[in-house]
Amino acid sequence: MSYPYRASTGNAVTAWCRTTGNVATMNERASAPGGLALIEALVNTLQDITTGADTLGSAKVRERFGITADGVDDARELRESLRATCLAHAGHPPHRAVTPLGELLAKAPLRVLVDDRDGSAALVPLHDDASLLSRVAAAIAEATAAGTWTRLKACEAEDCRWAFYDRSPAGRGRWCSMAVCGARAKMRRYRAK
Ligand SMILES: [Zn+2]
Repeated sequence: MSYPYRASTGNAVTAWCRTTGNVATMNERASAPGGLALIEALVNTLQDITTGADTLGSAKVRERFGITADGVDDARELRESLRATCLAHAGHPPHRAVTPLGELLAKAPLRVLVDDRDGSAALVPLHDDASLLSRVAAAIAEATAAGTWTRLKACEAEDCRWAFYDRSPAGRGRWCSMAVCGARAKMRRYRAK
């Protein structure tokens, strides 16, 4: 499948790397807040779940996630566990068998950072040059504290499964894009009548 829309919104890492900017105008959904943008971008490196088009094959993209070619298999495993969790946030079963996310994150070195001024605390990566796994784990801890974690969902369309941040007031968003996956689902329902 090939949608011009998908090709033009393209590289989800662009959404995370805000310096390249203007993503909100290219895509009807702005990228997820805080550290969730990293997770959203990682999940969406699998650009097309039906063809397997995967930007982690690109050295430039890997660099943005701080991984080398050797780290791609682990990153892919983490990515699909994250996708399954995003599906769970939307009330859907996993798209395939995955390693439980908690099992992967248990290996992430984190520490508690306490702010001396007000005593507030946050989980942060143990090392300055943190691994992707630690950065993802810290982002989940941050989003959990902020109450945003369960708003990072995966698209209901089986041939999409992109991650998106659900900004709908009631938190019942179903598709990565109303213009693409939402419209296609409506068209299918219409044809089925
Ligand atoms: Zn979608």
